[in-house]
Amino acid sequence: MHPLKPLLIQLYYGGTYPYRRRWQRQAVRAGRAPVVVPVFHRIADDAANDWTTPLADFRAAVLWLKRHFDLISLAETQRRVRSGRNDRPSVSLTFDDGYADNAAALELLLELEVPCTYFVTTQPVIERAPFEHDRQMGNQFAANTVEELRGLAQAGIEIGAHTRTHCDLARVDDPERLYDELVAARDDLQQALDTPIRYFAFPFGLHENLSVAGFHAAREAGYAGACSAYGGYNFPGDDAFHIQRRCVDGPAICLKNWAVIDPLRYGRTARFEYQTQSPPRQPAVVGACE
Ligand SMILES: [Zn+2]
Repeated sequence: MHPLKPLLIQLYYGGTYPYRRRWQRQAVRAGRAPVVVPVFHRIADDAANDWTTPLADFRAAVLWLKRHFDLISLAETQRRVRSGRNDRPSVSLTFDDGYADNAAALELLLELEVPCTYFVTTQPVIERAPFEHDRQMGNQFAANTVEELRGLAQAGIEIGAHTRTHCDLARVDDPERLYDELVAARDDLQQALDTPIRYFAFPFGLHENLSVAGFHAAREAGYAGACSAYGGYNFPGDDAFHIQRRCVDGPAICLKNWAVIDPLRYGRTARFEYQTQSPPRQPAVVGACE
């Protein structure tokens, strides 16, 4: 991220905040408060890339969230969406991939009793093979071990599935490969951790990385929900199975700029409707922070 970008986002956020707050108060009064589901990847102080958040920024973001939002689980997210009414601005935290460097961040969430869903890719965890994107970039980031994930699950972190190889499921046409990435990988993870795996997150998660077949396979496989990451909000009355998220790695202002909805911009993100056979494939445009 360009060093000036956080400052520009801060200025935009500050300038639009009164309008956002007014809109949020109206949404709360109408029982239409959305559930915001951010995605983090790696919390570490080496500033290695755009999807690494320094621990101090993560701590600041979580403490700010605690002051301004109900912090809830994905199950509670779905309950509020299904009920058709939500009177409280709400956030459900998630992580994708499963990097060992997240230990301190997860410890902080457990200390603060903040619910969290932690999506892991099984090949790096079980076979100890590096992520393909890390191999290509020359990163040496370790994945969580099975023992670490078992401990996190026992401590109350919900563990979710994120395919076997972190592939782009929109490019997977072979039904057997789809089954392996979505279902067999989940079953392997369940067996290794001896804990139920109830949620799935599509790798990359933009419109162009989602597939109608993938959503249907996730439903048929018995997942409670499947997550995208193109930048949608979850409003009461929406389809609760598809949980819409956005990546917020980086300075805390990225998360703030996403969590407090900018009503001038949020409506521009088309929802991926997996129920239809011709889903919209438009790029996300809301609160870009990459
Ligand atoms: Zn991922």
